[in-house]
Amino acid sequence: MAVNPELQAELDRLGRSLRERLVELITELTPGADLTALFLDVPTVVEWREPPLYHYAALFRGMRPSEVPAAELAARAAALLGAAGWEVRTWREESEGRPVCMVGGSRERVTLKVRTGDHTSSVMFEGETPALPLSEPREFQWPEPIRTEETVTPGFVLCYECDGLGACSYCGGRGWSLGGDGLRHGCRGCDRRRYCLICRGAGQLAFSELSPYQLGYYRDRDPG
Ligand SMILES: [Zn+2]
Ligand SMILES: [Zn+2]
Repeated sequence: MAVNPELQAELDRLGRSLRERLVELITELTPGADLTALFLDVPTVVEWREPPLYHYAALFRGMRPSEVPAAELAARAAALLGAAGWEVRTWREESEGRPVCMVGGSRERVTLKVRTGDHTSSVMFEGETPALPLSEPREFQWPEPIRTEETVTPGFVLCYECDGLGACSYCGGRGWSLGGDGLRHGCRGCDRRRYCLICRGAGQLAFSELSPYQLGYYRDRDPG
């Protein structure tokens, strides 16, 4: 996949914005947290479309200082986000009958959530960038056959399955095909192996080694 530097730069910028905000919230709200556990280094694939969609995402657990009630920590989180120009939303949820304070923030489609409750010392920080493509959509080029009637080795015949293509003749050697849902589906023709399973990618078969069943494909062949 040829990465488009502009698309990559845009996703990286959003990833940095997310990281910056998470680092601030974590250090302010759960002092002493080990930030090396905040993994936001590489974007990951969200959906195998064509082109695939990537995002940065992180989940981090900090410890609520015992003297800070959950509601107060949530209010601080909301204030920090608001001060940084993020849209803020606070709400309450229940977890196994116990109240949980939730704070949500969003900016430029980057979203994050802070979750805590008085029943636990955990503060969960969660965030993700929007899912974006890193490359332009590309028209797939069906491969050229690696063997033709002109180039087949003497004593060999073109593979009856791929007709000399060598690559899997179902997926053209990509190992997947696009489904009606817009997602990549592993090719069942080659079991994602990309090459023709009959000739193992050679495009041709040794005539003397054909099984009686395989010979059936070449019944019309001139024995000379
Ligand atoms: Zn083949
Ligand atoms: Zn295939």
